[in-house]
Amino acid sequence: MERTLVLIKPDGVRRNIIGDVIARIERKGLKITAMNMRTLDADTAKAHYEEHASRPFFESLVEFITGGPLVAMVVEGERAVEAFRALAGATDPVAAAPGTIRGDYALEVQQNIVHGSDSTYSAEREIKLFFPELA
Ligand code: ATP
Repeated sequence: MERTLVLIKPDGVRRNIIGDVIARIERKGLKITAMNMRTLDADTAKAHYEEHASRPFFESLVEFITGGPLVAMVVEGERAVEAFRALAGATDPVAAAPGTIRGDYALEVQQNIVHGSDSTYSAEREIKLFFPELA
């Protein structure tokens, strides 16, 4: 069964929409098989976003993602990577379709509520980072 790493980013936690994000995942038929809440340290945040290290927004992204508690979960199901990214909607919440998580809840590209791995390869790398006991 395919798995993906989902984060409810600090903006989602602050806005009290953990329950809605979880409900959408479960309603789709995906299964949450691990979950916890933690505040990321800068090293883990940089490792998670290593592909963006040279981007101008990197420092601000690390500051944002470490700025409060987030919820991390492993989500499993048929084509889980693609299925969750469809639930999340486009990276830019203004372009994200209404009915998606980002389309319903966000306006700014950085504070876009959730993260979902972009490939099965990234999913395994990210699960190892967030849930080393499951790798
Ligand atoms: P995620 O990896 O969080 O699921 P994504 O794959 O849709 O998002 P990426 O292009 O990998 O998007 O960007 C990772 C994250 O970096 C985005 O979710 C967003 O929080 C932030 N980000 C992307 N582009 C910008 C930008 N231009 N300015 C500020 N933050 C950005």
